Amino acid sequence: MKRNNVPYKINLTEQEIPKAWYNVRADMKTKHRPMLNPATLKPVVESDLTPVFCDKLVAQELNDKDRMIDIPEEVLNFYRMYRPSPLIRAYFLEKALDTPARIYYKYEGGNTSGSHKLNSAIAQAYYAKEQGLVGVTTETGAGQWGTALSMACGYFDIDCKVYMVKVSSEQKPYRKAVMETYGASVTPSPSTTTQIGQKMLAEDPNTTGSLGCAISEAVEAAVTTEGYKYVLGSVLNQVLLHQSIIGLEAKAAIEKYDEYPDIVIGCAGGGSNLGGLMAPFMADKLTGGKAPYFIAVEPASCPSMTRGKFAYDFCDTGMVTPLAKMYTLGATFIPASNHAGGLRYHGMSPILSQLYHDGYLDEARAVGQRDVFEAATLFAKVEGLLPAPESAHAIRAAIDEAIKCKESGEDKVILFGLTGTGYFDMAAYMQYNSGEMEDYIPSDEDLERGFAAIPDIKEAE
Ligand SMILES: *Cc1c(COP(=O)(O)O)cnc(C)c1O
Repeated sequence: MKRNNVPYKINLTEQEIPKAWYNVRADMKTKHRPMLNPATLKPVVESDLTPVFCDKLVAQELNDKDRMIDIPEEVLNFYRMYRPSPLIRAYFLEKALDTPARIYYKYEGGNTSGSHKLNSAIAQAYYAKEQGLVGVTTETGAGQWGTALSMACGYFDIDCKVYMVKVSSEQKPYRKAVMETYGASVTPSPSTTTQIGQKMLAEDPNTTGSLGCAISEAVEAAVTTEGYKYVLGSVLNQVLLHQSIIGLEAKAAIEKYDEYPDIVIGCAGGGSNLGGLMAPFMADKLTGGKAPYFIAVEPASCPSMTRGKFAYDFCDTGMVTPLAKMYTLGATFIPASNHAGGLRYHGMSPILSQLYHDGYLDEARAVGQRDVFEAATLFAKVEGLLPAPESAHAIRAAIDEAIKCKESGEDKVILFGLTGTGYFDMAAYMQYNSGEMEDYIPSDEDLERGFAAIPDIKEAE
């Protein structure tokens, strides 16, 4: 049935904002392997994590039983300032592609931080405040997480120390300015303020930094500073939990029009937006209901799912964080300093990794940067919205699926996550527009160097 009666924007009312997050782990048949304490290689327990993370967040991290977890009232109040986010029917894109597919996207870039990361930042800042902490430390790659966390900490009036990957801090001075406006302090990483940073600089004074290294610095700063804990913007279970708000809203909105996605697409850096968008649809699949086809899209320059190994690995370069079983390129892998900054992490969420390994997440797809910007530019022209380069990975895949529908004549429903605005990424657009953008694809040899650093963990079956 062709549904032409769907409005361009499907907005839920404020009352329809979900009151609880959905914890997909409760429905997973095979839980992901437990995180391991790096010192003992034993599964982590609460007391391993509470020196680093806030207590309530540790409880969420380890919770694989409760399906729904109430959103605290203070967090809900903050959500009301910028949620529900719109679900948009991409009529103009459909027309431009001349496809029978019906394309929907959930737009998370409409808040000042410019991305979905605020959904988790506000929850994490709330729990830090509730615990009576002075502040939190974190890392940021492209800057979206640091910006989101700065806003959240500014709102709850706690301190925020951000270690920003050096190459990003140089490429994106305005990101730094936004963070400082909200009261955060921003340190380019690697820095001389931590032991691990000093070590990295001694090894390579010209290093452009990496997310893995910035994580190590932020963790070190948290555990050595009284009243501080460390928070992370992706990868962790708690972050996917908070991001389930995206999927819960999207599902409620799309169902108002008796629609249901055949294909759900998200870009995947650490896996949080895709994990959140697909969560309630994955619930259907896990519990034997409808079964949409899920696609994770990653950059060909940092192909953790398409070319990585499913293995226990460290989440950071300094090897101070717990080990997680995930798809990984190795914690020492430093991707080329291309511009899809938010997707340049060596690992992948353990939840997403397990779902992919078990075949519930159907496909991972790597796309080249120029193809991504071609999609971004078309989208910007026809839909009037300038996407973040990260988000444009999902756009690329959505367009490719819609073109397949044109060829086969199928009127599939495609839902994708448009995670952020591209306004802070104009340097990348400038490069693309001037024809200077290059596709960097690591060679097998490059990857082997990263794999060599993956620890050899014997797993009891
Ligand atoms: C951080 C970021 C991503 C990737 O992170 P995930 O945890 O994989 O969602 C995607 N899009 C934008 C705009 C981001 O800021």
